[in-house]
Amino acid sequence: MSKSTKQLFRDDSYLKSCEAVVTHIDERGVQFDQSVCYPHSGGQLGDHATLVNDDGTTTHITDTQKDKDSGQQYHVIDTSSALTFSVGDTLTMTIDWERRYKLMRFHSCLHLVCAIVDAPVNGGSIQLDRARLDFDLKEPLDKVALTEKLNQFIEQDAAISTRWISDAELDAHPELVRTMSVKPPRNAEGTIRLVEIDGIDLQACGGTHVAKTREIGEVLVRKIENKGKQNRRITVVSADA
Ligand SMILES: [Zn+2]
Repeated sequence: MSKSTKQLFRDDSYLKSCEAVVTHIDERGVQFDQSVCYPHSGGQLGDHATLVNDDGTTTHITDTQKDKDSGQQYHVIDTSSALTFSVGDTLTMTIDWERRYKLMRFHSCLHLVCAIVDAPVNGGSIQLDRARLDFDLKEPLDKVALTEKLNQFIEQDAAISTRWISDAELDAHPELVRTMSVKPPRNAEGTIRLVEIDGIDLQACGGTHVAKTREIGEVLVRKIENKGKQNRRITVVSADA
């Protein structure tokens, strides 16, 4: 078992490439000393990337996952051909940026939804063409009003930033944890990451976000479904999709 991967996207979600040393390989995938790839968690899909070694040979990362038990980050690779690298090798890792950027825009958009809907979050998912959030809420919601408010926030071009707080600070502000189904992300020092949308939203989150809300682009609340007594599912898509 190698030590954990330094997750470079935590402090710079716009970082597209890095040098990475192979630290471990097994049937689940490859581990590195550091990575620009976000692992599938908190409803956000794992990144895809390419790995290039010294002689220019390219390998594709087809998914990035977190091991359920150890929490270790695994880069899933196409195993149909022989491995062209081994433990100790340094490779250049470059993420599929177009794909990641779509996920970032939707993730930031879901935080805006959280800022509008005042109810606990039961779960959610961020895909390439849509994102959804499930709220613990009895009252119906208005699709048109929600779309309008979301686009108003997006037009404000509010800055989105991250910072880390201690357990004690989080305990003093339990409202910062919006999603009951996801544990707040902690770093090695045990601090928790907060994502702040200036003047709009503040919550614990480990995901990748855009820097300004206008980057999200115009969105549309496609549907609001009633998934049982206390569950309202909101699905958001891009307005130009
Ligand atoms: Zn989030």
